[in-house]
Order: sequence, then structure tokens, then C-alpha cells
Amino acid sequence: MDADVIIIGAGPAGSTLATQLARSGISVLLVEEKHMPRHKVCGEFITPEAFPTLERLEVRDAIHRAGAQPITRLCLTASNGTKVETSIAEMSRGARSALSLSRARLDQILFEKAKQAGSVCLEGVAVKNCIFEDGSPCGVEAMSIDEGRMVTFRSRLVVDASGRNSRLMLTREERAAGARGGRLYALKAHLRRVEGITDQVELYFFPQGYGGLSRIEDGLVNLCFITSERAIREAGGDPPAVVDRTIKNNSLARSRLLHAEVEGRWLTVGPLRFGARRLAQSGVLAIGDASGMIDPFTGTGIQIALRAGELAAEAIIKAMDSNSDLFPHAMAHYRTSYEREFGRRMKVAALLRRAAFSPQTANLLAALLARAPQLARRLLRATRA
Ligand SMILES: Cc1cc2nc3c(=O)[nH]c(=O)nc-3n(C[C@H](O)[C@H](O)[C@H](O)COP(=O)(O)OP(=O)(O)OC[C@H]3O[C@@H](n4cnc5c(N)ncnc54)[C@H](O)[C@@H]3O)c2cc1C
Repeated sequence: MDADVIIIGAGPAGSTLATQLARSGISVLLVEEKHMPRHKVCGEFITPEAFPTLERLEVRDAIHRAGAQPITRLCLTASNGTKVETSIAEMSRGARSALSLSRARLDQILFEKAKQAGSVCLEGVAVKNCIFEDGSPCGVEAMSIDEGRMVTFRSRLVVDASGRNSRLMLTREERAAGARGGRLYALKAHLRRVEGITDQVELYFFPQGYGGLSRIEDGLVNLCFITSERAIREAGGDPPAVVDRTIKNNSLARSRLLHAEVEGRWLTVGPLRFGARRLAQSGVLAIGDASGMIDPFTGTGIQIALRAGELAAEAIIKAMDSNSDLFPHAMAHYRTSYEREFGRRMKVAALLRRAAFSPQTANLLAALLARAPQLARRLLRATRA
């Protein structure tokens, strides 16, 4: 046996679970296919509801030292220019500000914490399959990318934290993810010389999708947006041309990006699928995006991944203590707490998704919310803890 628990993927979900299990004396093998630090397509907005978990992980100071920026306001602009603005304090009860930090830095901090707590952490090792004994998972087969050979690791429990493209959780039909052309992709870059982005995160809706800008460390601004495969194809797949034909259809975004310059390179991911998926498959427990992905306009995916890591840790620790069959016992606890914390939020996000991808509905909703700020706050809170 190489470990009690093997965790596939060292994003926020996997590293949190690894830290909490290792702290309680459970042996953990955390397997990550990339080398840290690695970039990630993400708006890089950390909602205040994530702070309690970051405190418990004891990484708040490291996050501030890494250059995290305070965000005190959220501004939404519909494609017809209607604006809805709220303070983070009103959106997330009691919080003065949210934070923004590149995923390269955030995920590295969380990964280092998992190591410090005593997890064995491997980088450059991509899990290919789960291995089974008497129908139950008993480890994984993986490719050591640096050594160019397959390796096998054995454990009592396998947890999938490999994100939205999970090999183990996605069915073949889900991989197809909708009709060609209409499928959704996300683009991200770090920018310099962006006008007027200070302590606010701005979300822009436009006929082909939505996206946002917010300041991160080192004087950079994160630009991240979602659009259709058709829009990308029409722009010849060239990111600056995609920006011109999509997010710049929103007049506020256009003015912000007038003199912007890209630092580093563009990242693209897709096709994207949003919504609840499954919490387990064939005896493998799933956490974070592997179990389903909340829509990025909520800015809560990182928080859900962190918290799901904690909930799974509590469930696994209880199951280990009870000395009964590990997977069913852990799964029962995890399912109950997951539903309690995230069930309603996933449903609210699914309802709002219709507006996010329909300019007419988004314009109507923005007009309503601009006149009823109380309603705007209640809606935003309903997508959070
Ligand atoms: C366009 C967009 C914008 C977003 N903006 C925000 C935002 O502003 N704020 C927010 O809170 N959330 C945002 N999110 C959501 C957020 O990025 C995710 O919810 C979060 O990253 C989930 O964390 P995770 O740990 O579950 O998975 P991930 O962060 O995806 O981590 C999974 C890890 O597993 C590794 N891995 C994958 N396959 C294997 C394998 N076979 N073997 C080994 N390792 C593997 C990957 O390399 C990766 O490091 C956004 C998402 C998108 C698509």
C-alpha cells in the first residue's frame, strides 16, 4: 500500500483535502500532472466565503504576501450598457473585500501547504486509470511524464480532484458537450495598461457570452471570458481578434481595453459544461469541478473546491475512525454535507445561466436589478454560502 488515500489533481480541492487528511495522520499521495506553478484559465477572483477555509488551512498570510489584491466592488454591465453595482460587503455579509490572485500563485501556496502537512506530493505524473480489486478501486495507473514510463500506486481510497475534464467522472456523452459551433470555450490573459480597473471586479455581458476584468498581483489585470466556438472560429482562432469580435461589443469593456497589452500568453480551454455532475463513480469519490462546476459568473468555483476538500476530509476521517467499509461510509457523510452546502447554490446558478447566454434576458434582468438593488444583493447571495 502506497497511501491510505490517493488524490488525483492538485487544484484547490485536491490540495485542501490532502492537507486536512495529512494533518489528521492519514497517509496521502497527491498526484498532479503539471509542474507547479502552473497557469489556469480562471477569473482569479476569490470570494470572501472562501476565507474561513483559507484561515483553517493557514494560508491567508502567504496569499497576501504573494500580492493578492483587495476587491471591494462588483460591477455588472449588460450588453445594452445597463449597469448594476454592489459592494462586496453587501454581496457577502460582513466581508470588507474579496481578493484576487493568479492561480499560478494561489495553487502553488495550497500545494506547498499539502506538502508541509505531510502529504507525499508528485508533480508531472498523469493518472490514466483507476485499478480495481474485487470491483473496488485499490489504486491508480499513471504516466510519469518526466520518466516516460507507467507507474502504479495502491491505496484504500481514491479521490478524483482532477477538475472539469475528469477522465473518471465524465461519461462519453458528457464529453460530446453539445452541438459543434454552439460549444463554449474560455480565454484568459494577463494584461497591462488597462484603463480604470482598481478595486472593482467588472463583469461584462455581450451577445456572444460574458467575461470580466480584475486586478491581480504585480500591476497586472486578469481578462477572462467565455464565448462560443462559432465566435472563435469566425475570428480565425486568433485571441486578439476574438476579443475584438466578442467582449469588445460591450462598450465599457471596449473602453477598458483600449490600450491593453498582453503579458505572457493567451490560454484557452473548452468545451465547457456547467452544473452538477456526480459525487462518485465506481467507488471513486469526486470533489471540486470533477463533481460538477458552478458557473464562473458566480465567482465561487474556488470556494466550492476548497470547501468540498474540507467536507470530503471530514467524511473520510469519520469513516476511517468508524472502522467500517471506507468508501460507502465516507460517501454517505460527504453526500449529505455537499447537498446541504451546495445543492441550492448550484440550482440558482443553473437558473441564472439562461440569462448569461441570452442578451435579451440579461438586459431585462439587468434593468430590473438596477432598479431593485435589494433584489440584486439577494440573488448574488443566493449563489454563495
Ligand atoms: C472561464 C472560467 C473562469 C472562472 N473564474 C473563476 C473565478 O473568478 N473565481 C472562482 O472562484 N472560480 C472561477 N472559476 C472556477 C474555478 O476555476 C474552478 O472551480 C476551480 O479551479 C476548481 O478547482 P479544482 O481543484 O476542482 O480543479 P482544478 O483547479 O481544475 O484542478 C485540477 C488539477 O488536476 C490536475 N489534473 C487533471 N487531470 C489529471 C490527471 N489525470 N492526473 C493528475 N492530475 C490531473 C490539473 O492539472 C489541475 O491542477 C472559473 C472557471 C472558468 C472555466
